[in-house]
Amino acid sequence: GKSGERSYTLTLLPGDGIGPEVVAVAKDVLSLTASLEGIKFHFKEMPMGGSALDAAGVPLPDETLDTAKGSDAVLLGAIGGYKWDKNEKHLKPETGLLQLRVGLGVYANLRPAVVLPQLVHASTLKKEVAEGVDLMVVRELTGGIYFGKPRGFGTNDNNEDIGFNTELYSASEIDRIARVAFEVARKRNGKLCSVDKANVLEASMLWRKRVTMLASEYPDVELSHMYVDNAAMQLIRDPKQFDTIVTNNIFGDILSDEASMLTGSIGMLPSASIGESGPGLFEPIHGSAPDIAGQDKANPLATVLSAAMLLKYGLGEESAAQRIEAAVIETLNRGFRTGDIFSSGTTLVGCKRMGEEVLKCVDSLT
Ligand code: ATP
Ligand code: MG
Repeated sequence: GKSGERSYTLTLLPGDGIGPEVVAVAKDVLSLTASLEGIKFHFKEMPMGGSALDAAGVPLPDETLDTAKGSDAVLLGAIGGYKWDKNEKHLKPETGLLQLRVGLGVYANLRPAVVLPQLVHASTLKKEVAEGVDLMVVRELTGGIYFGKPRGFGTNDNNEDIGFNTELYSASEIDRIARVAFEVARKRNGKLCSVDKANVLEASMLWRKRVTMLASEYPDVELSHMYVDNAAMQLIRDPKQFDTIVTNNIFGDILSDEASMLTGSIGMLPSASIGESGPGLFEPIHGSAPDIAGQDKANPLATVLSAAMLLKYGLGEESAAQRIEAAVIETLNRGFRTGDIFSSGTTLVGCKRMGEEVLKCVDSLT
């Protein structure tokens, strides 16, 4: 039931570089959307990343993690910068992000790649190939070769140095990511492509078997399988054939970056990381962009669209999410562009102004 006022606590982690600028815009957009949709948000802004290192000596202070865990969803800007690049591993901003992901238990990473008609020119692909691309990569985030044991360095029988890692998935690890992907595909166009290397790798053979078994629970979703080498090629050749892609940690790492390059607009791309029951983590895929930080040049739309994913996948507030997505489209239709997506005939604006234009559109849409 959606009657009465729904109330949520949101943790905001502005972070470093352009993070605070883009999160401020997203916060305003969330606030206005909430008031129009009968939702109440309690925002808790906490330090994280390089700014937390400077203030508290650690990239993820305990209070920040506790607040995040105790909230309904977490919106992160960006972390890192030149200043902390030479720090030891445990004192790097990026380590704080890993700790946050582990602390929240998020195992599914969702990355949409959409070529909007207004931004086709930014795509690395030919217009005919790029037009209409709208896909989602669901990547397993906490298992596979990045975490599998045994791992390490050693020597072989010839006393030669070796390095080794283990690609390992349990049935339950596969099932839970597959369920997320089937649910996502169901909310989209009902097509799911599972990407693996089941012709070579045992972990992939189990992956394919479990995904195929689960498909009977989702008769409304059309499941296909593809080998990862072919998928990498098909993403360039004919990306429109994909709706939702589900894959393991390492293949997803590569394919989601490949998919994002199809759009060519790093300032437009959101992401979501979700787990079993606790709060999800929502963030733009871009970094802290120290080269343009503090200059009111950042594109806030990736973070605004991350806020829309927060509403849709984190809180189940689909109508509020749609309102934000529609407002972003309308803002582009009205011709407003930050520098990263500017083209002739459009209106160049800064981060703040872009935010104001999105707010106008949020307000004017029903
Ligand atoms: P990280 O390692 O944190 O991902 P990075 O240097 O690899 O950092 P970004 O920080 O995303 O990547 O920056 C890459 C380039 O894209 C920079 O030139 C930056 O200015 C630009 N950029 C990134 N995000 C935005 C944005 N939201 N708006 C405008 N330009 C952006
Ligand atoms: Mg980077």
